[in-house]
Formats: sequence, C-alpha cells, structure tokens
Amino acid sequence: MAKVAVTGAAGFLGSNLVEFLVSRRETVAGLDNLSTGRLENLRSVWHRRGFTFRRADLARSSTLPRAEKYYHLASPASPPAYQRDPISTLLVNSTGTHRVLEAARRADARVLIASTSEVYGDATVHPQSERYWGNVNPIGVRSCYDEGKRFSEALAVAYRRSYGLDVRIARIFNTYGPRMDPADGRVISNFVVQGLRGEPLTIYGDGTQTRSFCYVADLVAGLDRLMEAPKEVPTPMNLGNPAEVPIRRVAELVAVALRIPLRFNYRPLPEDDPKQRCPDIGLARQHLGWTPTVGLEAGLPSTVASLRVALAGKPRTRPRRSKRLKGWVT
Ligand code: UDP
Repeated sequence: MAKVAVTGAAGFLGSNLVEFLVSRRETVAGLDNLSTGRLENLRSVWHRRGFTFRRADLARSSTLPRAEKYYHLASPASPPAYQRDPISTLLVNSTGTHRVLEAARRADARVLIASTSEVYGDATVHPQSERYWGNVNPIGVRSCYDEGKRFSEALAVAYRRSYGLDVRIARIFNTYGPRMDPADGRVISNFVVQGLRGEPLTIYGDGTQTRSFCYVADLVAGLDRLMEAPKEVPTPMNLGNPAEVPIRRVAELVAVALRIPLRFNYRPLPEDDPKQRCPDIGLARQHLGWTPTVGLEAGLPSTVASLRVALAGKPRTRPRRSKRLKGWVT
C-alpha cells in the first residue's frame, strides 16, 4: 500500500513535496497528467525505492492508488496556464477533487487539499485571514481557478460533515523557488527569464500592486506540518510568507540577484488582477508552530540557478527506467 499519494506530483510544488517526503523515506505514489507538470521535475526521486509514478488525468479518470494520506495538488496554477484551459481547471478542481475525496473515504485516509489565496479574490480586507470570505468575480477570467478552488473547499468540508473524513485545506499564497517552469508566466519566473535573456522586465500596471512570496522549502514544511497535525487542527489554513512586496520591488530584487541594470517594459494590468495580497498566518503560527524563514533576497539565488539550467538546454524529459506500478487501483 502506498502510504502517501500526491496528485500534481510533477508540478513545481508537487515535485518539491515529493522530494521532501521521499527523503524522509515515505512510500510515495505520484500522479500527474503532465499538462503543466514536467517529468524532469521528478528526476531526483525517479529511481528511489518507494516512489512510483503514473500519468493520469483526474478530471477524466479515477486512477488513484490506495493510500493513508492524500495530497491533492493537481491543477494548473499560474494565471496564463489556468486561463488557457479553463474547463480542465474547473474539472480537476471539482470532479478531480471528488475522486480524491472518494478514494480517501474508501481507504479511511487523511486528505490535504491545496487551495489558494485566490479564494479571497481582489480582497477588500487586508491582510487576509481565514475568516474573510473573499471578493471573487464568479464569471471573470480567473473564475475557473478561484471558483474551482472554492468548490474544492466546499466539497472537502461537505465530506467532513457527511462522513467525518479527516480533511485539511491549505490556502497557499504565492510561492517561488527551484523548479518553477520558465514558461508558466508567473511574475518571478518571468522576471528572471527576461533578465537572463537581456530583455526588459514586464511590469503589469504600475507595479504598485503587492504580493507576498513564500520560498518553496518553507511552503513544503508548512504542508507537512498541516498534514501531520492532529485531526482537530483548524481548517482552512493560510500558508504563505507575510512579507508583502510591491511588484516593482520584486523587479529590483531580481535585477540585483542577476546583477543586471533595471529596465522596465510596462504592460496593461490583466483583468481582475488583485491589488494587494498578504496572508495573516496567525493560525499556522499558533497551531502548527510554522513560520517562513527564507526572505526574497535569500530565496532568489537558488531560483535563478534553477531557471538558468532550465533555459540552458532541453534536458531528457523522461527519466530512463519505467516504474513499477504496484498498489494502483484503477
Ligand atoms: N506580473 C507582472 N509582470 C509579469 C507577470 C506578472 O507585473 O511578467 C504581476 C501580475 O499582474 C500580478 C503579480 O505580478 O499583479 C503576480 O502575478 P502572478 O502571475 O505571479 O500571480 P498571481 O498572484 O496574480 O496569481
């Protein structure tokens, strides 16, 4: 029996989480439909004992292993990626979440649902605490992701109320670090890639809008603590770095990390782009003893190094030996 199942295992967050779990000698089953995830992200764990992988599209098939713990991370997560395929985004966060919750119910397992700060939409309350219900445009260009994640949350708590299922919901704020996809269109990967190519950095709007960026190792530690916490832990719970930065400042920090002169290319602000975002992480501090430790200046060099390698060449995409798929039920 696979002990831990991770959906979205080949993505940025998923692969960092899998690496962390495998290094702790957990038995991990990863699945991903590879729409935005890349097998290359799993290179460091591919041949490790106790790791299996299956390509599966949760929105369209119910291929899930039996496990004791399920992390449901599968979903496109960058605005250009989820807006490219809004229907699949909605389906993986509805049908896909349903399949994960059903598998967990049958296995009497624990589930962690990866939700998002996007459930707060263009927030009118600042910083955002879990008590705030959000300001989401239900038919806007971001709604496939925002409402998909809100539905996921609603379904997860319905399973807890109806079946007593042990569910935890992490509202994940902007995260960055090694294995970001150079092409996924997020602000930090865009700035680093543009800087490495000698292009000006694209600032959307006037760059005064804010975000709070959490280094991926901090985030993974938070996910693990939330999963390992007692069943009574409050949920949903914000996970993110509370240091709030205007986007223009992010550009300056990236320019410093790359040692390049600062040049901007101003572009229109995308529709429904939130103006301010910053997590209140009081609950995570109190109940998980978790607080991020890596600031942007400290986290950018490894992010730059990883993006530099990704840009330098197209590495072999599929690690060589195929994996045995013991313990999978389809
Ligand atoms: N942004 C930007 N330049 C870029 C990409 C993004 O100025 O090349 C801005 C974007 O408009 C938003 C912020 O940076 O205000 C964060 O964008 P991202 O796509 O990383 O994530 P979001 O928090 O909007 O989901």
